[in-house]
Amino acid sequence: MPSATNTLQPGEAWRHLDIAVVGGGIGGLAVSISLRRAGHKVTIYERADFAGEVGASISCAANGVKWLREWEVDIAKGDGVYLRQLINRDWESGEPVSVYDLNDYEEKWGHPYYMFHRQDMHKMLMDTALQSEGAGTPVKLIVNHKTVDLDTENGTITFHDGTKAQHEAVIGADGIGSNIRKLIGIQVEKRPADSSCLHANVTTEQAVKLGLPDYSKDSAIEYWGGHHTFNKIVLSPCNSGTLLSYYCFFPREKGDFSEQKWDASSTVEDLLAPYPDLDRQVLGHLGIGQEIRPWRLWVHEPYSHWQKGVACIMGDAAHPMMPDQSQGACMAIEDSAALGLVFSKDLYPGSVREALKLYESVRHPRATKVQAASARARENIHERIGFSDNTDNPLYKVKDEQKKLTITEMNSYDMREDIRSKWPEGWPASANGVTANVINGN
Ligand SMILES: Cc1cc2nc3c(=O)[nH]c(=O)nc-3n(C[C@H](O)[C@H](O)[C@H](O)COP(=O)(O)OP(=O)(O)OC[C@H]3O[C@@H](n4cnc5c(N)ncnc54)[C@H](O)[C@@H]3O)c2cc1C
Repeated sequence: MPSATNTLQPGEAWRHLDIAVVGGGIGGLAVSISLRRAGHKVTIYERADFAGEVGASISCAANGVKWLREWEVDIAKGDGVYLRQLINRDWESGEPVSVYDLNDYEEKWGHPYYMFHRQDMHKMLMDTALQSEGAGTPVKLIVNHKTVDLDTENGTITFHDGTKAQHEAVIGADGIGSNIRKLIGIQVEKRPADSSCLHANVTTEQAVKLGLPDYSKDSAIEYWGGHHTFNKIVLSPCNSGTLLSYYCFFPREKGDFSEQKWDASSTVEDLLAPYPDLDRQVLGHLGIGQEIRPWRLWVHEPYSHWQKGVACIMGDAAHPMMPDQSQGACMAIEDSAALGLVFSKDLYPGSVREALKLYESVRHPRATKVQAASARARENIHERIGFSDNTDNPLYKVKDEQKKLTITEMNSYDMREDIRSKWPEGWPASANGVTANVINGN
């Protein structure tokens, strides 16, 4: 017999659910871990076979690492760089003009700031999701399954080959070009950004052999330019510093890659062309750049809603953002944490639909603020978390002090408290305590 600890009306008691996740990227894997740990059966449907995960860095600040630790992800597998500084350098001379010290970051915020290689981060999440060790039932991963249709009322997914699967909830983690987003009725308003981006990889070993600076020693994200201009170079070291991942931004009129696919390639000439006056040392690094790829930049307006019926979206599908706050992955991890919590025994509000509404009410405002701040940081590095706290620097200037994103709000955010504060109005006070009903005896 089901036993109830509280009388939660309206709605049903917590129970094990059968949940589908569409998309097996960083967001899809992260949410499958948090839902597995919350006691649910999770199946990921991924359209590809994963051979194509891109070779670039990805940053994970304390607000992301916090959840990786809570989920017992083996972070050592990520072979990350433990970041100690953010360094903004002069465009021409390369001299540091603003440094944000991260040496006391872990002490202050409880968790470190890592820079991973995307493939390593993907692998460490996939291992945690699929392995038999750890809390919950191992996640089932089904590759080469492209979702083409969805019934948002009964959770039936249709795949490209006409086969179908039905689940009690469907999470769309299918990235910036999300199909689930379209299927839950969102009209996308987007425009190409005013800037373009090329990404290149440089090996530290090759740079040092040529007598170029060993930037890996700084354990820093390093920036050239970015002061009220579209020109900016971002260097992020990964793979324990052996690989330097360069994001090179410039005005779109100097090269428009907005329609290109990530697997398109570019040349060293394309990479160097926009930067005749750039610091010669970093230009030397770019001159030996490999795997040069365009990164399409589109500015998306916030979406009207993130859920419909028993389906929702998360990660880049829900809030694609400019890369300039380095928060894309962390926001996908936070979405995952929120979904795990609203489907947990402690915070389940009594139905799948209510849980998804609660998730949206918690995540939409925070992710939208980060999305807007990322767009501002595209043009002005002082808006970037960390530098936005550097108010003593004479160069410091943000558009609106009230709207700026601070390191404190990013890293001292209490998601459980936020969920409690957004608990559906008129629902039982007992839930605000908060303990939802539990059946199935555990
Ligand atoms: C080159 C690059 C560098 C980045 N660097 C950073 C960084 O430094 N810091 C940071 O925070 N963020 C960074 N980002 C952004 C970050 O990677 C994303 O915000 C984060 O990974 C969340 O992505 P996601 O899982 O929502 O989507 P994705 O990673 O795009 O994953 C979506 C998945 O869904 C699958 N899929 C798509 N459509 C379907 C369908 N119809 N059916 C089934 N499966 C489908 C795709 O194949 C893919 O595996 C970077 C992104 C790129 C491309």
